[in-house]
Amino acid sequence: MTPEPHDFPDFEPGTVWLVGAGPGAPGLMTLIGHHAVTTADAIVYDALVNKAILRWARADALVEYAGKRGGKPSHQQRDISLRLVELARAGKRVLRLKGGDPFIFGRGGEECQTLARAGIAFRIVPGISAGVGGLAYAGIPATHRDTNQSVMFLTGHDTTGAVPAGVDWRAVATASPVIVIYMAVKNLRAIATRLVEGGRAPDDPVAVVSNASLPDQTVFETTLGDVVAGRGGDLPTPAIVVIGQVVSFRETLDWYVAGLRENGIG
Ligand code: SAH
Repeated sequence: MTPEPHDFPDFEPGTVWLVGAGPGAPGLMTLIGHHAVTTADAIVYDALVNKAILRWARADALVEYAGKRGGKPSHQQRDISLRLVELARAGKRVLRLKGGDPFIFGRGGEECQTLARAGIAFRIVPGISAGVGGLAYAGIPATHRDTNQSVMFLTGHDTTGAVPAGVDWRAVATASPVIVIYMAVKNLRAIATRLVEGGRAPDDPVAVVSNASLPDQTVFETTLGDVVAGRGGDLPTPAIVVIGQVVSFRETLDWYVAGLRENGIG
């Protein structure tokens, strides 16, 4: 049975919904996310949101871009948050559409803090994060009983674009058998170097999944030692990096083949 509009929570005028659009393929969005796109009066979307999703918007919806790429803010975070407040105060149903999951390296928490301070009601609609869904599209399970009981999510750059200084690389190197790193391509060699210096095995497998779940998805496989030596410096972005033995499952689990890429949903 297909859900009807009355099955969904009311998208009340004057409220903001922060919705995760998933890693790329439009079909990876949740049903409630789709409902929000078709209902919203105003949509403020990020750079990594697949534009195909915006085609579901009402013809009279206000659709605004608020993207940032590669650490360079084209819109200041504060301006985006204040814009959400402004649109909500104008009585609109405001949809803040973000790539992946809004609360995973998406600054959704900060935006909600601003909304909370302004007394504006909001709802969070989680999405499939690139660090989980992107791996799945590369045939890499984030966990597998044979290899890891934990997984660590990390960001590969700080607000200035540099390798995050607040990270204890020695601890990270040995803390989890699987490390998934967002926004890591630019600093990949420096990160790999810190991990090996921190005691991580140079033969640990690494996969870099670029444009995950999209028709131009590519997966680059290497080892930590080879990254330290300079391989993998110039890969397409956005890309998610995964380090650990789970990468080797790809050999049998790599299911995403060209034939499956030929429609608009996934
Ligand atoms: N909130 C998002 C992450 C935003 S940070 C989420 O939960 O997925 C942006 C980073 O996400 C990119 O630098 C990249 O590391 C990752 N990413 C987003 N979309 C991706 C895609 N289609 N393929 C690979 N990585 C992706």
